[in-house]
Amino acid sequence: MSSRGKSASVTGICPPFVLLYDMMNTSDNIAAPATGIGGAISILRISGPDALAIGNRVWHGKTPLSAANARKMLLGRAGSDSALAVYMKAPASYTGDDVVELHCHGGAAAADALLRLLLSSGCRMAEPGEFTFRAFVNGKMDLVQAEAVADVIGAGSEQALNVAERQLAGSLSHRLDAVWEKLNELRAECESHLDFPEEELAWDPDVAAKINAVAAELQALLETRELGATLRDGVSLVLAGRPNAGKSSLLNRLVGYDRAIVTAIPGTTRDTVEVSTVLRGLPVRLTDTAGLRRSNDPIEREGVERSRRSIAAARITFWLLDASAEQLDEELAEMERSAPPGRIAVWNKIDLVPERELPELPGPVVKLSAKTGAGLDALLDAFAAAAVHDPHPAEPEVAVNARHAALLREALAQLPEAVRNVESGDFEIASAQLREARRLVGAITGRSVEPDILDHIFSRFCIGK
Ligand code: GDP
Repeated sequence: MSSRGKSASVTGICPPFVLLYDMMNTSDNIAAPATGIGGAISILRISGPDALAIGNRVWHGKTPLSAANARKMLLGRAGSDSALAVYMKAPASYTGDDVVELHCHGGAAAADALLRLLLSSGCRMAEPGEFTFRAFVNGKMDLVQAEAVADVIGAGSEQALNVAERQLAGSLSHRLDAVWEKLNELRAECESHLDFPEEELAWDPDVAAKINAVAAELQALLETRELGATLRDGVSLVLAGRPNAGKSSLLNRLVGYDRAIVTAIPGTTRDTVEVSTVLRGLPVRLTDTAGLRRSNDPIEREGVERSRRSIAAARITFWLLDASAEQLDEELAEMERSAPPGRIAVWNKIDLVPERELPELPGPVVKLSAKTGAGLDALLDAFAAAAVHDPHPAEPEVAVNARHAALLREALAQLPEAVRNVESGDFEIASAQLREARRLVGAITGRSVEPDILDHIFSRFCIGK
């Protein structure tokens, strides 16, 4: 047992890294809480060759858990408390090992007591992600699907969840497997030129074209990266502008409920307010900032300082301008002084001055009434265009992550050269390049993968997953 394994507790905290020594041993029995603290029930999971025996050691019902009642939920007792138990027989379980799950009363104390019982009955504490790691080792899922499990858990919008679920079901894996097979065939074709150079074999005349087709598929997968990053990480969006421009009103409209306090007194949002929301299907971390203006009030000054930091860190800024203000140049001067280059200028309160001639501004500009909602669609178009260069982003079938993209890029880099070598008859180098591209594509799904990569992937998981 690793030192971290010993100290891991029932709280479900994800440590920042994981040692794989314990995980590489997939023949012992592991246990961990599968639910976080604070819920009505806690689920403890056991996986391993002796999961059934250990389950029956700690849980007692009318009949013991067995193959005859596999996948049936049974009521009994575990320790001093009532508990439900279910047995999933290998290989028909999440991990591919024998699995027992025990459902006990929620709360850290009940789950901790049961966990201790399991640890003293033949289990060791599972490392973060170890159940999923076993599923990978047992061939229940490939590496892309294992990563999709983490994506499902972390999904911040319905679109992100849909893509993650599709990838968990194998949508990306199937495309990558098809590319791998194609590269394998093309490599074999090139190698046969080396093995039988003199023979009059029926050579495939389209090898170069087929390599180009593979390159196009890799490129298409790579192009899902931008939307993939946005769906996984969310977009940071800041509302900025002078006090009273309508930032809090817009935040409430975007989020759909009264999250920020809207008042007519300038300077009431003294701190930044952060909320998560979904705009045009994209998960968004939305920050309402204190209005930017010069102030002698030390609390307001600190708020203004925080606003500047939020603006600097955000990917997109809506810069609100009060279209009904007497002095429009004051509104504009603050924007020129403080707005980041890609800001979206928003003339707000347009309902008060529908006929007013407003100064021309460079870059994206939207006219809005945060009060009535007029112009909101145009604002969301401008937002999505800035976030993913598309005002109406369609939900992608697949969306690669940073690790996939790096390997795809490397694989892709092999192919133009391979085409040139095929065309000039240099099949030895072409086959080496195709083999390397195949290896790189295989590393994405985990056909060939280094332990430190596995470490990196599974360390993102929580204990119990
Ligand atoms: P903030 O200081 O920038 O957060 O501004 P608030 O959202 O608190 O709004 C300041 C005042 O302007 C409030 O009285 C709002 O009701 C009003 N307001 C905000 N947006 C609009 C708008 O589009 N039209 C009108 N007529 N009033 C607005």
